[in-house]
Amino acid sequence: MTALRSLKTIDDLEEAGLVAAARRVGLDDVAARYAVAVTPAMAALIDPSDPDDPIARQFVPDAAELVRLPEEREDPIGDGAHSPVEGIVHRYPDRVLLKAVHVCPVYCRFCFRREMVGPQGLGTLASQAMDNAFAYIADHPEIWEVILTGGDPLVLSPRRLASIMERLAGIDHVKIVRFHTRVPVVEPDRVDAALIAALKASGKTTYLALHANHPRELTADARAACARLVDSGIVMVSQSVLLKGVNDDADTLAALMRAFVENRIKPYYLHHPDLAPGTSHFRLTIEEGQALVASLRGRVSGLCQPAYILDIPGGHGKTAISAATIEDNGGGCYTVSDFNGETHAYPPASGRHPE
Ligand SMILES: *Cc1c(COP(=O)(O)O)cnc(C)c1O
Ligand code: SF4
Repeated sequence: MTALRSLKTIDDLEEAGLVAAARRVGLDDVAARYAVAVTPAMAALIDPSDPDDPIARQFVPDAAELVRLPEEREDPIGDGAHSPVEGIVHRYPDRVLLKAVHVCPVYCRFCFRREMVGPQGLGTLASQAMDNAFAYIADHPEIWEVILTGGDPLVLSPRRLASIMERLAGIDHVKIVRFHTRVPVVEPDRVDAALIAALKASGKTTYLALHANHPRELTADARAACARLVDSGIVMVSQSVLLKGVNDDADTLAALMRAFVENRIKPYYLHHPDLAPGTSHFRLTIEEGQALVASLRGRVSGLCQPAYILDIPGGHGKTAISAATIEDNGGGCYTVSDFNGETHAYPPASGRHPE
């Protein structure tokens, strides 16, 4: 059965057969604490007979979310520490986040901003706050790129998006506009001619980072939506989160990265899950993540290689955390590992100068 509207309560999910009555315990408490929404496209992808369905695991609440560990934080990546005005996060010199809206079409159970998004979250920036955010961007000539995130900026109407883009058009030093979104996958019909025209209204180079975590999310409808975006001249990159029980095996990750590349989406970041409250059931160790990422190197094309990224808690920014493949032995000599895990001297012994 395909739902016609988004499922937003535990009752909705139970009616749709996505939560068994026997597994309801605790879920109302989860839903009272964190927003819930599953779009018709995602509900239709879930196999209700599979208790470990990787799509359900991303969107259907789980009682494990009530478990809060001491290292988990309300603001896991420290946005607050670098917010000069409401709606702007300016952590790196040449780029800012513009968080125009804190609503999403789906609510991911592992969301790093789960304390800020949702119907009870921070909502949409008021027009005065929006004016202040644009004034900040205009006053800072070092801002080369504006990244619209949230929330999901593609929930805004084409009219509102076009008005944001037209304001950015007037700021000469901004050369790149980037959107971070899940919409082409979770609500592909939204990507129509009016939305695409709005995304391009700034006349700037436009990038769109698509968030998807499992190859099944790239349905025929999602692929068609991405094709419309790329055909219009928007450059697409991918963003995924490495999640236990969703994509933490080499075959799934390889299939996901290949699906991106087949759809003209360049794999960009694979994030280690952030320390958001109630998300420990999604986290693997960094060593496990490094081994999975290293296994991609030999298995699939170089086009399919994302960077494995940790956002350092406290607002210190992102850092690449792939396992080292080179060891410095001193004196200009190194040991390098190949994709089979075998080690080699660099420069090769025969090429070395005599002592
Ligand atoms: C993630 C992030 C960015 C974007 O970083 P890139 O490495 O350019 O993708 C920019 N600003 C903030 C505050 C971020 O958290
Ligand atoms: S779409 Fe992004 S911001 Fe929204 S719930 Fe998912 S991870 Fe969080």
